[in-house]
Amino acid sequence: MRRGRRPDGRTIGTISTTLTDTHLEAQALAREFAAGEIAPHAADWNARKHVPVDVMRRMGELGLLAPTIPEEYGGPGLDATSLCLIVEEIARADAGIAVPIAVQAGLVASPLLRAGTDAQKDEWLPRLATGEVMGCYALTEPDAGSDTAALRTRAEADGDGWRITGSKQWISNGSIAEVFIIFARTGGEGARGVSAFVAGGGDGLVVGPEIPKLGLHTSSTVELAFDGMPVPAGAMLGPEGEGLKLALATLDGGRITVAAQACGIAQAAIDLAVEYASGRDAFGGPIARFQGVQFPIADVAAQLEAARLLTLHAASLRDAGQPHGAAGAKAKLVASAVAVKAADVAVQTLGGYGYSGEYAAERLYRDAKITEIYEGTSQIQRLVIARDLFGDAAR
Ligand SMILES: Cc1cc2nc3c(=O)[nH]c(=O)nc-3n(C[C@H](O)[C@H](O)[C@H](O)COP(=O)(O)OP(=O)(O)OC[C@H]3O[C@@H](n4cnc5c(N)ncnc54)[C@H](O)[C@@H]3O)c2cc1C
Repeated sequence: MRRGRRPDGRTIGTISTTLTDTHLEAQALAREFAAGEIAPHAADWNARKHVPVDVMRRMGELGLLAPTIPEEYGGPGLDATSLCLIVEEIARADAGIAVPIAVQAGLVASPLLRAGTDAQKDEWLPRLATGEVMGCYALTEPDAGSDTAALRTRAEADGDGWRITGSKQWISNGSIAEVFIIFARTGGEGARGVSAFVAGGGDGLVVGPEIPKLGLHTSSTVELAFDGMPVPAGAMLGPEGEGLKLALATLDGGRITVAAQACGIAQAAIDLAVEYASGRDAFGGPIARFQGVQFPIADVAAQLEAARLLTLHAASLRDAGQPHGAAGAKAKLVASAVAVKAADVAVQTLGGYGYSGEYAAERLYRDAKITEIYEGTSQIQRLVIARDLFGDAAR
C-alpha cells in the first residue's frame, strides 16, 4: 500500500492584483527563508521544544523579524501588508517561529513607534530591527487576561524613577527578551490608572521556566515576576495613565498579524492534505478521487481565501492610516477558525498518520488552537466587532 507523499512546498495563492512588487519581494524572501532555514527543522525543533534564537536573529539580519521598523531606525520600513505576507510564509513552515515576528514588530516596535520619545526609539528600535535584542510585551497577568483593566502590577514612584512589582503570565519571547514593554498601575483602579513602560531587564526581575503548553513549542512562553524592579523616569512610554489605551491600540494591529499566522497554518494544512490524498491509495486508487476526501479540503481552501482577503484588507486599512480595530478583529475571528478547521481536515485526511508524530498534521492541529486565544480570544473579537456595530449600546 502506498503512503502519502510529503509536501513539496506548493506555492500559495496570492491576491496579486492588490500587491505591489515590494510586497511580493518581501513574500518571496520569507518563503525562501522558510523553505530553506525553517521547514526542514520544524519537526525536530518541535519534538525537542527547542526555541531557535539563532534563526530569529538571522531573520533580523534579513529584515524579516521586525519589517515595519522604518529605515531611519535601521529597519526595512515595510508596511503592515508586507508584515502579514511575511508572517504567513513563516507560519506556514512553523507557527512558533512566526511568534517572535508578531511580537517584535506588532507588539514591541509598534507601541514604541506610536508613543516612544526620540530617546526611546533611538535606544531600542535599531537593535530590535536587526534582532540584536529581542523584545516582549507584558500585559497579561494571572488574574487579568481578557479583562486587561483589572491588572494589578504596580509601578511606585521612587526618586526620579519607578519600581515595578507584580507578575505577568504567558509572556511570549519572555525568556529571550532584553527589552520589555510593561503595563503597570501608577494610579487608581480601572483603565485610567495604568501606564506603559519600556525597559531593559534589571534587579528584581525573575524570568520563570518555560510554561508547558499544547503547541507552539518553538516559541518561548514564560511568567515574569517583578520584585521592585527599578526603571528610570525616562522609561515611561506615552503619557502617565494612558498605558491601557496604548496596549489596546497595539493589539488592534497585532491581531492582524495573528490572522496572518492563522492563514499560514491553514495553508500548510491544506498543502499537506492535498499532497497526502494524491499519493495515498485505498480501494484501488488514490483517496483524492473520493468526494468525501476532496470536499472538506475544498471547503477550507475557499474559507482560507476569504480569511486571507480579510487579513490583507485589515492590513491595507492600517497602511492607509484608517481605523482598523474591527477589521482586524473580523480577520482574526475568521482566520483562526479556518486554521483550526483546516488542521482538523488535515488530520482526518491523513487518517492514522494524521494522528502520528510522523507528519506535520498533528502539530498544525495543536498550533492552530492558539490563534483563537491570544491577543484576545474569539469571544473578545466578537465583543470588539459588536461594539463597532452597536456603539455605546453594547457596553
Ligand atoms: C501561548 C500564549 C502566548 C501568549 N503571549 C502573550 C504575550 O506575549 N503577552 C501578553 O500580555 N499575553 C500573552 N498571552 C495571553 C493571552 O493574550 C491571554 O491568555 C488571552 O487574552 C486570554 O486571557 P486569559 O487566559 O486570562 O483568559 P480569560 O480572560 O480568563 O478568559 C477565559 C474564558 O472566558 C472568556 N471570556 C472572558 N471575558 C469574556 C467576555 N467579556 N465575554 C465573553 N467571554 C469572555 C474567554 O473568551 C475565555 O474563553 C499569551 C497566551 C498564550 C496561551
